[in-house]
Amino acid sequence: MRFSKYYIKTLKEVPKEADVTSHILMMRAGMIKKLASGIYSYLPLGYKVIKKLETIIREEMDNAGAHELFMPVLQPAELWKETGRWEAMGPEMIRLKDRHNRDFILGPTHEEVITDIIRNDISSYKSLPFNLYQIQTKFRDERRPRFGLMRGREFSMTDGYSFHTTQECLDKEFNNMKEAYGKVFDRCGLHYRPVEADSGAIGGSGSQEFHVLADSGEDEIIFCDSCNYASNLEAARSKLENAPKEELKEASLLDTPNISKIDDVVNYLKVPVNKTVKAMMYRDVVNDDIYMVLIRGDFEVNEVKLRNLIDTIDVIMLTDEELINAGLIKGYIGPYGIDLTNIKVIADNSILEISNHTAGGNKIDTHYMDVNYGRDYTANLTGDVRSSKPGETCSKCDGQLQSARGIETGHIFKLGTKYSISMKATYLNENGIAQPIIMGCYGLGVTRTVAAAIEQSHDENGIIWPISLAPFIVDVIPASLKDEVQMNLAEEIYSSLKKEGIDTIIDDRDERVGFKFKDADLIGIPFKIISGKRASEGIVEIKVRKTGESFEINKNEVLDKIQELIKKY
Ligand code: ATP
Ligand code: MG
Repeated sequence: MRFSKYYIKTLKEVPKEADVTSHILMMRAGMIKKLASGIYSYLPLGYKVIKKLETIIREEMDNAGAHELFMPVLQPAELWKETGRWEAMGPEMIRLKDRHNRDFILGPTHEEVITDIIRNDISSYKSLPFNLYQIQTKFRDERRPRFGLMRGREFSMTDGYSFHTTQECLDKEFNNMKEAYGKVFDRCGLHYRPVEADSGAIGGSGSQEFHVLADSGEDEIIFCDSCNYASNLEAARSKLENAPKEELKEASLLDTPNISKIDDVVNYLKVPVNKTVKAMMYRDVVNDDIYMVLIRGDFEVNEVKLRNLIDTIDVIMLTDEELINAGLIKGYIGPYGIDLTNIKVIADNSILEISNHTAGGNKIDTHYMDVNYGRDYTANLTGDVRSSKPGETCSKCDGQLQSARGIETGHIFKLGTKYSISMKATYLNENGIAQPIIMGCYGLGVTRTVAAAIEQSHDENGIIWPISLAPFIVDVIPASLKDEVQMNLAEEIYSSLKKEGIDTIIDDRDERVGFKFKDADLIGIPFKIISGKRASEGIVEIKVRKTGESFEINKNEVLDKIQELIKKY
C-alpha cells in the first residue's frame, strides 16, 4: 500500500467531543469518523483493524467447532412479542414501521431470530448439539452513548448460539467458548480477566464476562488476591462474618427521638452495627408489589441481585410519598410489630443468623431491640442481595477482595430454556417426547475490543498496536523523496516485504521525515524501516514502536529481522 494513495487523514488536534484515549487516538489517526452520537464510519485504516480482529475471531470460533451464518438486522416485532422482550427491552431497542405499518426493530441481539430459525429445522435429538455464530452490526439506543467505539448505538458484535439436549452438554460448550474467547483475547495481546457476572435482560442461569483491564474501564471488577475468584461488582460475593450467637432476649420497644440513621441508632442505643437490621422499601416495576428488604445495618442492597431474586425486570425504591401512602414512617421501618398484609419481606442472608438485633419500631422516634428472625418475623424470600466490596473476605478462600477497572469485551451465558420454552423450540428425545432445547449464547464486542486494545496500549505519541491487530506491520519511510538511492532502496524493501506477505505500507508522500514519523507513531505501526543517509551502502534503520529500540541493518537482513521482531512482539 502507498501512503500517498491511501485514505489516511490524521489530525493534529484533539477532537472536542472525544472523551477517552481510544476515542481521541482513533479520531486523530483517521480510523473513525462520527456521523451522529454513538454512530461512526470506520475509515479504511480503522476498518482494516476491525477486519483483522474479525479474522482472529472467525479462526477461533471455527476451530472451536462453531459455524458462521448471517442473520438480518431488520426483525419483525412478532418474534420479540413471543419472548416478552418487545416490552422488556424498553427504549434501548430501536423500533420502526414498514410501509404497511407493521412493527419492526433493528436487532440489539439475535436470540429471537436464531431460535426462530432452528425451531423450524430441528426435530430430533440426533441433530443436537451445534453452535452457530455471526459477526453482525447491532443497534442499541444507549442512554449514554460515549467513549467512541466503546459504547456506540451502532456497533459490531460476534454473537454465537449453541443448542443442546442436556445441561452437561451446555456446560461443556460454555467452557469451550470460554476457552475460544480467551484465545481471541490472547491473540490480541490483551490483559484480561474472565469474571462471574449477572445475566441481565438476556436471562438464564450462569454467565461470565471478559474484562480487558484498563483504568478508563466503565466497570469495576472484584477479584481475590489469593485464589482465582473474580466477578463484576454486580455479581460479587464475599464471606459473611457475623457476631457470635447469643441466647435470645425478649424484644423491647425503646424511644429513639430524632434517631433514624443507622450510625445514630448505633451510638444512641450503644449496639454494634452488626446487630442492627435496616429495612429498605422497594417496588417491583412489573406488578407494583411492595417489598421490604431487610439487610444488616452496615451493608447495602445490591439492586441487581434483588431483581434476580424476585425475578423481575426492575425494582425501584419507594419515594417519600409512596412511603406515607403505605403508612410507613421513614427511618423507623422494621419487620416486627407491623401489618405485612400488603408487603412481601425479603431477608438478606446477612440477617438470618444475627441474634437480638435492633430494628425500626414502625412508630415515629422508636426502635426495637432484641428482635430475632424466625421467632419474631419471617420472610417470603431469603437470599444474597448484599453488595460486596473490596476489602471484604473472599467467599471461596480467606483472601481479601481487591478491585480493578475493566472494559467488558465479552459476555457468555448459559441461557437454559428461556427462549426455547417461550418460542416453542423443542426436539423429540429417544422416547419420542418433546423437550425444550437447552441454549447457550456468546457475545464478543468487536468494535469495543478494538477500542479496548488502544486503551491498554498507547503512549503520548499515539497507538501501540499488538502485531495481530496493527493496520500495517511495517512502514517503509524514504527519508527524502528527491534522493533516488534512498527511494529505490525503500521501494526494493517495500516490494520484498510485500512479496513475503508482510502487511507493509510505504510512505511515499512528499513530506518531511519527522512528519512521517509522527503519523507512523500516531497510527501505531509496529515497525518503521527508514531508508536514509546510509542507503548508498545498502543500510537501513529499523525502529520498534513499542520499545523505541532501533537497529541499523543491511538490506539483505531486513526480512529475517522483521520476521524475528514479529515473533518477539
Ligand atoms: P454493557 O453492560 O457494557 O452495556 P451488555 O451487557 O449490554 O454490555 P451484552 O449484551 O452482553 O452487553 O453484549 C455482548 C458484548 O457486546 C459486550 O460484552 C460488549 O463487548 C459489546 N457491547 C455491548 N454494548 C455495546 C455498545 N453499546 N457498544 C459497543 N459494544 C457493545
Ligand atoms: Mg448494555
